[in-house]
Amino acid sequence: MPTDLSQTLAELNRAIAAATARAGRPPGAVTLVGVVKTQPEARVREAVFAGVAVLGENRVQEAQARWAALADVRGQVELRMIGPLQSNKADDAVALFDVIETLDRPSLAAALAKAMRAQGRRPRLLVQVNTGEEPQKTGVAPQDLADFLARIRDAHGLAPVGLMCIPPAEEPPGPHFALLAKLARRHGLSELSMGMSGDFETAIAFGATHVRIGGALFGARADHAAISTPSPT
Ligand SMILES: *Cc1c(COP(=O)(O)O)cnc(C)c1O
Repeated sequence: MPTDLSQTLAELNRAIAAATARAGRPPGAVTLVGVVKTQPEARVREAVFAGVAVLGENRVQEAQARWAALADVRGQVELRMIGPLQSNKADDAVALFDVIETLDRPSLAAALAKAMRAQGRRPRLLVQVNTGEEPQKTGVAPQDLADFLARIRDAHGLAPVGLMCIPPAEEPPGPHFALLAKLARRHGLSELSMGMSGDFETAIAFGATHVRIGGALFGARADHAAISTPSPT
């Protein structure tokens, strides 16, 4: 039995607004990103009609198929790539997404820069940071971020607007959110994509501008493993 999405959305928006106010941040400082991986097309359409204007996708091919079927509402939403991205999918990702949150290595930066030049499109970029330095997880190590940003600027003229992280599942997320916020301040980056269904209020307290919410909006999913997919090569 699907939940009533608009009611769930209203509750989530209230929780986000309350957490934003508690953190002493201005109304509207935090954007809900509805994570639509594995959701059927009808459910995504329902979310768009209910007012979810920013959506997150994990896989390029799955997203292409979904948005071919949802072409009539594509112009009403911002689409963000939040899953691991293979360099050979850079062309497709640049063509489809408004924002790519998972830039995490020089080879991908090169592929994205090339695709952007070829297509004349410039999706905004976030760098994924592996705040927990987990070997199986994608993301730039915190101590490598300064070099990485300099390198992609010098080599490709890329200027990311923010940072994204997925804290280790078994640790309290607060210190990871604090670290990501500190790194963003240090590098003058304005967008902070952090916090999911279970910890978005904590993320907002630490300065999240974008919270990525799947289960709490759409109901439980079967594929929780999808967030810790191994590094693409
Ligand atoms: C699935 C996913 C989310 C949403 O997770 P929920 O716990 O369902 O809210 C957020 N970020 C990423 C990168 C994901 O893959």
